[in-house]
Amino acid sequence: MASSTSQKNDYYEVLGVPRDATKDQIKEAYRKLALQYHPDRNKSPGAEEKFKEISEAYAVLSDDAKRAQYDRFGHEGIQGRYSTEDIFRTTNFDEIFRDLGFGGFGNFGSIFDMFFGNMTGSGRGARRGADLRYDLDVTLEQVATGLTTEIQVPRTERCDLCDGSGARPGSSPRVCPECGGRGQVQRVSSAGFAQFVRVETCRSCRGRGEILDSPCKACRGAGTVQKTRRITVKIPAGVEDGASLRLRGEGDAGENHAPPGDLYVVVHVLPHKIFRREGNDIVCEVSVSFADAALGGKVIVPTIDGKTAEIHLPAGTQPGTVLRLKGKGLPEMGGSSRGNQLVVVRIVTPTKLNEKQKELLRQFKEIEDRKESGGFFRF
Ligand SMILES: [Zn+2]
Ligand SMILES: [Zn+2]
Repeated sequence: MASSTSQKNDYYEVLGVPRDATKDQIKEAYRKLALQYHPDRNKSPGAEEKFKEISEAYAVLSDDAKRAQYDRFGHEGIQGRYSTEDIFRTTNFDEIFRDLGFGGFGNFGSIFDMFFGNMTGSGRGARRGADLRYDLDVTLEQVATGLTTEIQVPRTERCDLCDGSGARPGSSPRVCPECGGRGQVQRVSSAGFAQFVRVETCRSCRGRGEILDSPCKACRGAGTVQKTRRITVKIPAGVEDGASLRLRGEGDAGENHAPPGDLYVVVHVLPHKIFRREGNDIVCEVSVSFADAALGGKVIVPTIDGKTAEIHLPAGTQPGTVLRLKGKGLPEMGGSSRGNQLVVVRIVTPTKLNEKQKELLRQFKEIEDRKESGGFFRF
């Protein structure tokens, strides 16, 4: 979280106000920028970063003590004296956002949770469960048909015994007397003329806001347990290699009844011994003898459905010719069309010839040579 001070922009420049701006001018400048960059309105990449930057600048410049510290010592002065939490939590952003028509952040200062909540884990902010990833190998045959399979996912789940409260059934957690259930406490200290308000995670309840006198036996008070859950996954036919399927709510359980994370199943299509995939087409090679290629005929080729197909080989087929089996490829994902099977013809030169074959080929060659001396080689 600690960022280098040299990379930070000047707070006055960030808000676009002069160094002698009044508190009203600073507030007005921040309101304008917040209207532009608030994440409820601006979903473009970088907007959140910008919103964080203007909010930090406002948090410092709207507070007399912090502003004085910043004016004298710059970013180093602020970072040396205040934690990021201190900077954000003591500023009333809620009032401004409500005034601008945006949803509030619940209780005071929780803009901090929005930016840093997942990193610090402090406070009672309802933290959503983590997203999980599961890598699933599928064969090309399974891509052709689609697949329903059961996977085993180790994840955090809400404890059934205590329904996530962490308290032994029959008992209930009591509100932490130290923080009144907020999970945070304010500590006020004064240094000379200035008063500093620090908001810290409550030590008695470690930020939970609750005290467990008799913790649940199943989860030892955590409210969550580790389980390996069997989950049925439907992989659609025609799925691409690397595709990621999102199973909403199948990730880790959230804290304090916050929503669970999602499970992402990432599909890996395994290489096939015979077939290669090209979009929805599948490609294979077939070897034919020199005689078959010259005379033409029928060739039997394997297909992705495990059967075979007969394909017509025209007389005089050249090496590398691509023959097409219409509709024998892969289904289009979510559609009704199907790709083709492309068969690349390889021509095999015979190696073990008996005397009769050799004799016939010699005769064949003689005829060819005679033809060529009268045609091909006459320049
Ligand atoms: Zn429990
Ligand atoms: Zn507490």
